[in-house]
Amino acid sequence: MTFTLHVDGARWRAAMDAVVAARPGIVPVVKGNGYGFGRDLLCAEASRLDVPMIAVGTYVEVPSALAAFGRDILVMEPYRAAIHADLPDLGNRRLVHTITTRPDLDHLRVLQPTARVVVEGLTSMKRFGAPAAALGDLVAASDALGVTLHLPLGTGHVAEITSFIEAAPGMRRWYLSHVSPSELASLRSRYPEHRFLARVGTDLWLADRSAYEVRAHVLDVRPVAKGETAGYRQRPLPAGHLVVVSGGTSHGVAMESPASAATARSRAIAVAEGVLEAAHRVRSPFTVAGVSPRFAEPPHMQCSLLALPEGVAPPRVGDTVTVRMRLTTAYPDAVVVS
Ligand SMILES: *Cc1c(COP(=O)(O)O)cnc(C)c1O
Repeated sequence: MTFTLHVDGARWRAAMDAVVAARPGIVPVVKGNGYGFGRDLLCAEASRLDVPMIAVGTYVEVPSALAAFGRDILVMEPYRAAIHADLPDLGNRRLVHTITTRPDLDHLRVLQPTARVVVEGLTSMKRFGAPAAALGDLVAASDALGVTLHLPLGTGHVAEITSFIEAAPGMRRWYLSHVSPSELASLRSRYPEHRFLARVGTDLWLADRSAYEVRAHVLDVRPVAKGETAGYRQRPLPAGHLVVVSGGTSHGVAMESPASAATARSRAIAVAEGVLEAAHRVRSPFTVAGVSPRFAEPPHMQCSLLALPEGVAPPRVGDTVTVRMRLTTAYPDAVVVS
């Protein structure tokens, strides 16, 4: 059974090329599940895009990124003496570490006197970073390559970024996350001597939704009478067909937030019972014969049971059906780039 991400390579790459052309200095973000494509494939694409630097999320992702991408790698998780001191790749000259405190900086420089670093500012995200008041000193002490800022989703970032620029007046290189092209343009006109580099994942890899599609196999189909039961929970089914498809919780099916439930009522149920418990009451993300059937019960680990209503022509075993899902929570069995 397979749950596959199909990618129209020419279309996918054309969309990426356009994003890179529109955002000079872009730093592609390669992290987590690799936005559904897998991190190695994204590293290969970053090489093709000929960018000088990518960003990974954590130190755990460093060894595979070093192997798959030949240029600089910014680690977005901050270096912490208490956590990362023993990592074998710390001394690799292609790494750029993120620093948020003086003790972490001092510790890293004892281990690796020439380690390259950026300093992260603590924005309204409040995830990690040095407060603006401490930024100037840390930048000076670290001889940092740049300052990084991670902004919340949305707009209205320019004022916040400006306050950091004023806190570190000598720093010319700024790595920014979740800043729109128009905000970048306004920063560039205000600070023509500075370089602003956008760290981008979703808007790069998932730029053209029509360039990729998740497909699942139909594994079994059987007619059912109203009230017949099926599944782990032996729930009664409506009349129609029970369709078994590949794709379950291990692929990220139905792992999305309750907000993806269709109606206010199903959202309320999802919140009350947990998304998986509520799954049989919401439409599944599978499109079968032009409809979105409901789950017969919460998805299994690798397949899902769907209740196809009466009057809808059932698919055949071996057919493929499409699956609507967010790729940031997708773990396909295979990625096919054609
Ligand atoms: C994940 C992440 C990004 C990329 O986010 P997208 O929304 O996928 O573009 C950028 N910066 C930081 C610090 C991140 O953690």
